[in-house]
Amino acid sequence: MIKHLSISYVLTLLSMMTIAQIRDLDSYPVYEGSDLGLTYAKDRSVFVLWSPPAEEAEVIFYDSGTGGDPKRRESLRRDVQGTWRAELMEDLSGTFYVFRVRINGKWSAEVPDPYARAVGTNGKRGLVADPTKADPSGWENDKAIFSTRKSGNPNDAIIYELHVRDASIDPSSGILHKGKYMGLAETGTRNKAGLSTGLDHIRDLGVTHVHLLPVFDFSSVDESRPDTPAYNWGYDPLNYNAPEGSYATRADDGLTRVRELKTMIQAMHQQGLKVVMDVVYNHTMSASTSSFNQLVPGYFYRQDAKGDFSNATACGNETASERPMVRKFILESAVHWMMDYHMDGFRFDLMGVHDIKTMNIISSELRKLRPDMLLYGEGWTAGACPLPDSLRALKANASKLDGIAVFSDDIRDGIKGSVFEHADRGFVSGKSGMEQSIRFGIVASTRHDQVDYTKVNYSKAPYASSPGQTITYCECHDNHVLRDKLALSCPDADESTLKEMHRLALLIVLTSQGIPFLHAGTEMLRTKHGVENSFESGDGVNAIDWDMKTKNEDLFRFVRTILYMRRAHPSFRMTSSADIQKNIRFLDTQDGVVAYTINGGAVGDTWKKILVVLNGSGSSQQVPSPKGKWKVFVSNNRTVKNVHAGDSIMIKPHAGSVFFQ
Ligand code: CA
Repeated sequence: MIKHLSISYVLTLLSMMTIAQIRDLDSYPVYEGSDLGLTYAKDRSVFVLWSPPAEEAEVIFYDSGTGGDPKRRESLRRDVQGTWRAELMEDLSGTFYVFRVRINGKWSAEVPDPYARAVGTNGKRGLVADPTKADPSGWENDKAIFSTRKSGNPNDAIIYELHVRDASIDPSSGILHKGKYMGLAETGTRNKAGLSTGLDHIRDLGVTHVHLLPVFDFSSVDESRPDTPAYNWGYDPLNYNAPEGSYATRADDGLTRVRELKTMIQAMHQQGLKVVMDVVYNHTMSASTSSFNQLVPGYFYRQDAKGDFSNATACGNETASERPMVRKFILESAVHWMMDYHMDGFRFDLMGVHDIKTMNIISSELRKLRPDMLLYGEGWTAGACPLPDSLRALKANASKLDGIAVFSDDIRDGIKGSVFEHADRGFVSGKSGMEQSIRFGIVASTRHDQVDYTKVNYSKAPYASSPGQTITYCECHDNHVLRDKLALSCPDADESTLKEMHRLALLIVLTSQGIPFLHAGTEMLRTKHGVENSFESGDGVNAIDWDMKTKNEDLFRFVRTILYMRRAHPSFRMTSSADIQKNIRFLDTQDGVVAYTINGGAVGDTWKKILVVLNGSGSSQQVPSPKGKWKVFVSNNRTVKNVHAGDSIMIKPHAGSVFFQ
């Protein structure tokens, strides 16, 4: 996540707490029940709110999600462990509700229930609803269907990172429900040339997991004006447990939001795709005015030495996952998305803000219910954090995380250059001295005796104890997309050279160990027209142009074939650091070249031996050919079928080849 709106920052001054007050927060009782928020039944609605400092608490009802006068107020009665409770013995279905509390004689603002599972327009109020009414037909039978891709091994995953609106909003998508959840539930959609788009395209490509940028209710897009184009990535959380409304055909109807998101997930599952949700528990859009802070001032956020909100997220606040009720909230929220929406994985934004203990509790609790949950996150923060580094889920602590992977910026920038220095190049664009960073990435940041750690760009030691702890990638929604980064850093390169670099970059990602991750559209040379941080740049920059698939069909077919190769050959998906150390041997090669063999036979591969040769330099290179008669699968960035039996291999500039025996 990149820094976005931070108007909340100016409000933080209003919320400074004294050290004594902060100490009070840690003495609050912990609620052990599992019924926070609303429990609805036809004959009763039970509201439970946790607010230890409150002197009084109310639930207030409205007829609609915005505007109008309250139609009723009910007091909550003080209950155990800091909770407040109201049980109303009637059918309140269709009513909207908010909470408020009185602390030190002052009433808070009216705010939505932090646990609200359905909300109205712009997430202002929760909806009392029968959750089963929002299930699409056949939902009870929904599950991710796997055939050849079935496995709980995280290294078998191939992730495709996608923004809901980007996928369909462009006219070239041929999709009816443009920019909506339902657009990604459509099948049979085609571009002008008749090539598949949207969901069909993703299925055809052969990835295993669709990673969705935020689909929880975020703040920045005005849901009350659906006909006015508005855009945001969505890293500005408002209601964690309810779906975003701007992707629904009706934002005002809380149940339509739920039903349509579930319909999209169901459609993906029906195509054999699993779904990963990008979750942003590290901060909220606003701190002082958030539901959390209005109901329990200070508790959900960390404070700095002065008592102000600390700001490791560069968004004006950071949540305090180490506090038990915050930890409980995050865990229960993740369980909710996994159980109610059948999410198959989570990507934790700025995971380095969260404490390791919370992450490991999430991992173990989710996996008790779903052993194959895919969990990964950004092992860094965007600013200084008051909680010590040793306690947080940072990349350097990846080996302490239980079944949670971290993004490898080492290979990301090793491949194409620093995301922060626009002119910087990487291995594929001919920068010298990047060979060890590429080796480090190929072995998925695990220990390997042929990696010279002193020459790796960022990490001077391996941080993963198994390849399942590393996300292998070269681009994501943040920073320039691969296409733009290459163009920007290689202003003298012609179009065909840039395309070779692009192919080589994707070939490296998809042949390396770890969990490969693709940014949607890279398989058709997606561009964001040079915009680096497109979080609110609108459709003109962000929308996927499906006619690019026609122009770059060769690239699409190449990526599809490499994905097939990866799925078919366990050599590229080894499951232990020991296997990688034993079975991958790098060859001594000249600068600009990385070459290695994989002993496939040792890991049950039908390819007994594999040779990967990668030439990032701008000139052709000769590499001595290891003994034996090699069959060729990829020759100089092209998939081919022939046999190679010479003494040496010639690799073209910015190209890679894959051989096997
Ligand atoms: Ca919203």
